[in-house]
Amino acid sequence: MHSSIKIGLFFLFLTIFGTGCTKHQKETRPIVSVTTFPLYDIVKHIAGDSVKIVHILPFGVEPHEYEPTPKIVASIEKSALIFYSGAGLEPWTAGFHFKQRAVNMSQYVALNHFEKTRAIDPHYWLDFQNMKKAVTLITRELIQITPKYKQKYIKNEKAYLEMLEKLDEKFKITLAHCNRDTIIVNHNAFGYLAKKYGFGVASLSGLSPEAQPNAKNIIRLIETIKEHNVSTVFFEDFASDKAIKGIANATHTAVDVLKPLGNITADEAKENLSYEAMMQINLQKLSKALSCH
Ligand SMILES: [Zn+2]
Repeated sequence: MHSSIKIGLFFLFLTIFGTGCTKHQKETRPIVSVTTFPLYDIVKHIAGDSVKIVHILPFGVEPHEYEPTPKIVASIEKSALIFYSGAGLEPWTAGFHFKQRAVNMSQYVALNHFEKTRAIDPHYWLDFQNMKKAVTLITRELIQITPKYKQKYIKNEKAYLEMLEKLDEKFKITLAHCNRDTIIVNHNAFGYLAKKYGFGVASLSGLSPEAQPNAKNIIRLIETIKEHNVSTVFFEDFASDKAIKGIANATHTAVDVLKPLGNITADEAKENLSYEAMMQINLQKLSKALSCH
């Protein structure tokens, strides 16, 4: 065989077999970007592997006042569909020019206001009826971008809605009879749960966990703890626990973690923990703190 033909064949084989082995499989699925963990959990359960999900907020980062990096902005721009939480949770979305369909989920749910300031409470995903509205809307939007999976999505939607209904029932039953009526938390994220299941919440800081706790608030919380015979003060993953632990020490109360679930930790993401699993844990902790029976 002539040597130039040999070389030619060599390159031919390299093209056929070589590149197939070294190059990554090309991503052909549509990209769906979400800003928060509850939206991530819904898209994951409805769409499964049929879309590529980008969690805009990196796991382990506090969701309030987060600003996306240029790399994340680039991935947002490649998305076929974007879901963001809205109601003031992501200030960056206000000035952002979305090139694709971007759905502000807060427009499709029932929003509460904070009692004192009358500002909108953005933590609406801690209301299972709101989650159901989000599930139905997300399913509809996913069918628009990948209609061939319509039947699968509708089946998954049904299962997710049933799961939420069961969670709601379990919260109702578990929290129906309790000896205490108030919980203490780091930031004011649990208003939806409190309203639905009939308990009180006092928080160290307001809407966002970054707000600096002040002496007046600490004194007010200590009074609330005594007045309501509070057993437990809760802190959260993405904020300093110093002030909360100080209050617990001063009042001889227990400390525990309660999860607002706007985001989850990197470890929880690795363990594939679901919204359902984490709400079950939240329920156990609430039930214990409120001495329910
Ligand atoms: Zn929050």
